[in-house]
Amino acid sequence: MINLKLKERFLKYIKFDTQSDDSSTTIPSTMKQKDLGKYLEEELKSIGLSESFMDEFGYVYGYLPSNCNSKQTIGLIAHMDTSDEASGKDVNPKVINNYDGSIIVLNEALGLKLDPKEFNYLNNQIGHELITTDGTTLLGADDKAGIAIIMTVIDELLHSNIEYPNIIVTFTPDEEIGRGTDAFNYEYYKEKNCSIAYTLDGGEPHIVNYENFNAASCVVEIIGKSIHPGSAKNKMINASLVAIEFNDLLPKYMVPSMTEGYEGFNHLVEISSSVSNAKLVYIIRNHDMNLFKEQKVLFGKACEYLNTKYGYEVCKITLKDSYYNMKELVLKNEFILANANDALRENGVTPEYDPIRGGTDGARLSFGGIITPNLGTGGQNFHGPFEYLDVDEASLMVNVVKTLVQKYK
Ligand SMILES: [Zn+2]
Repeated sequence: MINLKLKERFLKYIKFDTQSDDSSTTIPSTMKQKDLGKYLEEELKSIGLSESFMDEFGYVYGYLPSNCNSKQTIGLIAHMDTSDEASGKDVNPKVINNYDGSIIVLNEALGLKLDPKEFNYLNNQIGHELITTDGTTLLGADDKAGIAIIMTVIDELLHSNIEYPNIIVTFTPDEEIGRGTDAFNYEYYKEKNCSIAYTLDGGEPHIVNYENFNAASCVVEIIGKSIHPGSAKNKMINASLVAIEFNDLLPKYMVPSMTEGYEGFNHLVEISSSVSNAKLVYIIRNHDMNLFKEQKVLFGKACEYLNTKYGYEVCKITLKDSYYNMKELVLKNEFILANANDALRENGVTPEYDPIRGGTDGARLSFGGIITPNLGTGGQNFHGPFEYLDVDEASLMVNVVKTLVQKYK
């Protein structure tokens, strides 16, 4: 399965440093993402899309009208930015042809290697073409592999006899900092009558994601009573100690380090305190809506308990929902998953589901009216120097997506 254009594209895209920045307040968070955006807009034009543009926020949209008068429109989405957990500047990829199953030395000096004993999935990739980092940066397969797959799909559809529906292509900025849909052009999708899309932002080709966490945050503010410690008896209420008390009222085992799969958690992400004031910030996560609600109720109960105990409003909580599990929405339209599964099977892949222990742009889009499950790209070990791409798997996904779009014609 050789797809030279796919590989060339990927190697070109990862040369753009597109790291997003959580501390920035602009959209996109870093202007360098627009350099890749501009390039992608041009490439969409050069492969034959008459309609492609980048908006002021750095989102790139392209529209491919159906070649068979289909009334249906399907969206294909990938993100342009890379994680801030590792540098994405001066990426110096290494191409391994026909991987032989041995340890891959990424960087001798730094002692970084990909050992199949540690990274088990490599055992499935013998004979494949892999692209790794040189150990000093991330690779950017997350999510430039997704972009390369989508671009190649559009290119190949345009130069084939395959019948396809209307297709909207979208490349978004700032996914890694959770803002990938903040300036998403829902109107454009509505105009094109598009209410179904797929993100290409996962790992192994056989994994389809359509479940994510329900997510909320809780800020706990504690007001103590600060008195000179020498004369504090029966008077002082130390906010720091009340903060510890608050955390002690939450279930001990319900933390990220003790949970997996469908188990939810309350995660203390920030704490600051003095005798007079304390602030705790939690994120609350659960796939199950009822359990999610119960977790939030528990925060209210802990607060109430402390207020009653101390006889004044020692504690105040602010709960805010962030995003919800897209599962219900996806399952209401069963064909969206069925089509993905069939497309995988028709290309020799047995689909599996994996609940995402996080959120996705697709979840936000789904609640915004565009149901959007997530498909794999062939990338592994995202967000760090161990990241690599399996070119054969990415090629396979080009075929899967080509098969998939035909199901909507
Ligand atoms: Zn991603």
